[in-house]
Amino acid sequence: MALPRKTSKLTAVATAVSLAMAPMSALAQQAKGPPVIRDTEAEQLLREYTRPILRSAGLEKQNIQIVIINESVFNAFVADGRRIFVNYGAMMQSETPNQIIGVMAHETGHLAGGHLSKMREQMAQAQTQMIIAMLLGAGAMVAGSRGGNSNGGLANAGAAVVAGPQEMIRRTLISYVRQQEENADRAGVKFLNATGQSAKGMYETFKRFTNDSLFAARGADPYVQSHPMPAERVAALEEMARSSPYWDKKDDPALQLRHDMVRAKISAFMERQDTVYRRYPSSNDSLPARYARAITTYLHGDLRSALAQIDGLIQLQPNNPYFYELRGQALLEGAKPAEAIAPLRKAVSLSNSAPLIEMLLGQALVATDNKAYTEEAIAILRAAVARESEAPLGYAQLAMAYGRKGDFAQADLASAQAAFLRGDNKTARELASRAKTRFAVGTPGWVKADDIVAAKPLPGQNSN
Ligand SMILES: [Zn+2]
Repeated sequence: MALPRKTSKLTAVATAVSLAMAPMSALAQQAKGPPVIRDTEAEQLLREYTRPILRSAGLEKQNIQIVIINESVFNAFVADGRRIFVNYGAMMQSETPNQIIGVMAHETGHLAGGHLSKMREQMAQAQTQMIIAMLLGAGAMVAGSRGGNSNGGLANAGAAVVAGPQEMIRRTLISYVRQQEENADRAGVKFLNATGQSAKGMYETFKRFTNDSLFAARGADPYVQSHPMPAERVAALEEMARSSPYWDKKDDPALQLRHDMVRAKISAFMERQDTVYRRYPSSNDSLPARYARAITTYLHGDLRSALAQIDGLIQLQPNNPYFYELRGQALLEGAKPAEAIAPLRKAVSLSNSAPLIEMLLGQALVATDNKAYTEEAIAILRAAVARESEAPLGYAQLAMAYGRKGDFAQADLASAQAAFLRGDNKTARELASRAKTRFAVGTPGWVKADDIVAAKPLPGQNSN
C-alpha cells in the first residue's frame, strides 16, 4: 500500500478525472469534510455486495446509500442511519469480495441494531453526568478557596472529583461500544449465514486489526479507533464464523474479477503512477492489470496509447459499459468531445442509463458547441439529475445547455442548484434570486428557486 498522499492532491487528481465530487450533507457537518468519490462501476459493485445483506436485515426498503470516501486508510462506518460510508482504502485492502462484504455485514449490524440513536442517548446521559461531576468538582474547589486554604489541597481534591466520574463515564462508554461491536458482529454473521455467505472474510479483516496487531500498534488507524478489537472479540467472531456451513465457501470467480477490476481502477486513479506500474507491471496480462495501465496512461496524457489499450479491453469484453465510459472520458478530457459522444452513448445504453455516465454524455454534447445537440443534452441531463440529485456536475452542465439555448431562467436555476450542492450557499442564493426574477411567480421554476433562496445552510456549510 502506498503512503497516503495529501487529500488536496487526491482531490485534484479525482476532480481532473471528473469523478464528480459531491459534498454530501452528512459530510458537510465537518467543515471541510472528506470528499466523496463518485464512480458508477465501484458504487454498483458495492451496492450488489450489500443488497442481499440489507434485505436479510429487513432494511431493503430504507434505500440505504453506499458512499465511497476519498481516504486511503481502511475505514467503514455508519453515521446517520441512511448511509454506509466506506473508504476507498477499505476496498483496496480487501483482497476478496467476501472480505469487504463481511465489513458491510458488520456495519449493517450497526444499522439494524439502531446503535447510532442508542449511542446518542448514551452520550446525552454522559453529558448530564459529566455536568453534575463538574459542578461537584467546582463546588469543592470553591469551598477550598473560601476556606482560605491557598496551598491547593482542597482544590486538588476538587480536580480529583472531576477526574473520577469522567473516568467512570469513559469506561462505561467503552464497555457500551464494545457491547455494540459484539452485537454488530453477531448480527453481521447472521446476515451472512442467511444469505449463504461465509463470515471468513469478516474474521480475516478484523483479525488484522486486533488490539495487539501491527495496525493497532500504529494507533492512528481510524478503524481501530472506532472499532476496538480485543482478542476475545475476534476469538468469539472466529467461533461463530467457523460454525457456519458456509465457512469454506469461495467467492464466485466472476465476482472476484469485478472486484479486482474496481481495485485496479481505484489504484490507477488514486495512486502514484510508479505504484500503479509496480502493482500492475506490463508483464501482467490480466484484465485488471490492463485496465489499470490503460487508465494511468490516459491520466498521464498519452491519449493515443490509452485509446489503443482501451480498444483492446473492449475487444475482450464488448459489453462492459465501463470500458466505453473510460474511452469517452479519455476523449472528453483530451479535448475531443465530438468523438466522446459515441462511446458514451454506448456506455449509457449498456449501463441501463447510469446517471453519472449520462452526465458525462451530457457534458460531451455540451462541449461540442454544436447547437444541434442542445435539446438532447437538456433531456439527458434532466433525466440524470432526477435520479442522481447530489452530483453538482449534472446541474452545472444543464446550466450550460440552457444558457446555449437562451433560457436564462433555467440556466440560473441550474447554476444555483450546482452551487448549492457544492456547498457554496452565497452563490446559490444570488443565482436563485436572479432566477426568481426571470420566472413567472408561482411557476415550478420559481418555486424551486425560492426554495434555494430560503434554504438554511447545512450545518458546517459556508453560510456567508
Ligand atoms: Zn463496528
